[in-house]
Amino acid sequence: MKTVNDIDFKNKTALIRVDFNVPLDEDNNVTDDTRIKAAKPTILKILKDGGSCVLMSHLGRPKDHEEKFSLRHIVKTLSDILGVDVKFVDDSIGPKVEEAVSKLGAGDVLLLENLRYYPEETKGDSHFAEKLAKLGDIYVNDAFGTAHRAHASTAIIADYFPDHKCFGLLLASEVENVGKVLENSEKPVTAVIGGAKVSSKITIIENILDKIDHLIIGGGMAFTFIKAQGGQIGDSLVEEDKQDLALEILEKAKEKNVKVHLPTDSIIADDFSADANIKISSVDNIPKGWMGLDVGPQTIKNFDKVILESKTILWNGPVGVFEMEKFAKGTIALGESIANATKNGAFSLVGGGDSVAAVHQFNLTDRVSYVSTGGGAMLEMLEGKTLPGISALY
Ligand code: AMP
Repeated sequence: MKTVNDIDFKNKTALIRVDFNVPLDEDNNVTDDTRIKAAKPTILKILKDGGSCVLMSHLGRPKDHEEKFSLRHIVKTLSDILGVDVKFVDDSIGPKVEEAVSKLGAGDVLLLENLRYYPEETKGDSHFAEKLAKLGDIYVNDAFGTAHRAHASTAIIADYFPDHKCFGLLLASEVENVGKVLENSEKPVTAVIGGAKVSSKITIIENILDKIDHLIIGGGMAFTFIKAQGGQIGDSLVEEDKQDLALEILEKAKEKNVKVHLPTDSIIADDFSADANIKISSVDNIPKGWMGLDVGPQTIKNFDKVILESKTILWNGPVGVFEMEKFAKGTIALGESIANATKNGAFSLVGGGDSVAAVHQFNLTDRVSYVSTGGGAMLEMLEGKTLPGISALY
């Protein structure tokens, strides 16, 4: 894997695909700058070498040239984070942009306008990619969040830099850390899969069964497994048509010697709301009119034991409706268990939208080994797919 650390950028212009798809408030202020900060090491390395940077990104899903999706809004935040006065050009291809690029000197940073103002970007149009390719000497991809897309700026463009392309430091560390779970990981390896639905996690589970020793299943998806095994789950979330699939997974896990851990008890509620009445119930004997919204105390203990004995841990998806305080205990306890295992020397990777949100919300970010920034991209890697943005760099 060639990264920016393997290249000297002196007097070179790096054309960097970054992921600056950040949330903005009504006044167009950046409300979460995590993704901008994540691109900083790559940009600073190039500037330190005496090179210049042309940054390209998308923001949201603009239909036309909607002003609210302009990358102009992030220039100030970006400048503050980099400590450089970032220049901006209100287009992403064409003579005006080429002129702005030609004026760049060592240490300069130029941000292009939202790539998705051109529908050619998401279509992976090669003419558009060719025009973008004129804007730099070396192509760098540091946008893990869009690495699973074969867009013009994330994959197609790499063809125009056969010998001058490389990984940005963020993209490289994402690939390395997901790799630590999937390849040559230290055993025992445990995957904790939670969240609402079995259907959205099925491919991941199937792909990782060969690589893990323990599979912990929590969250709403656990009830499809419990019901398929004959349990009474009351009004808990269930995917009726996925029960056979659930039994198949259990069968396959057995064949592969993977130990599956399902919840044994549950915090049940008489309503899906923050002020519902709650009680503890056995997970397979939930009365009608009640639903399981979090794992119970016995389950927390069982999960904790497995996690503390693990050397590699992957966590994707909450084990309860953690957005409501009454049903957050299981997810908090799980996060604590993973943090404790990490302190004892385990490698832990957290990825996928809601578990990342939970980790941030419960202040666990610095107590796990790695938190992946790319939701969809990380999930596709775990599913065993080749990501176009990554293969294009080889
Ligand atoms: P996913 O996007 O599939 O990872 O699902 C995450 C969502 O699953 C979160 O919003 C949780 O509130 C929800 N969730 C977790 N446990 C349950 C449960 N027992 N019943 C219903 N929803 C749940």
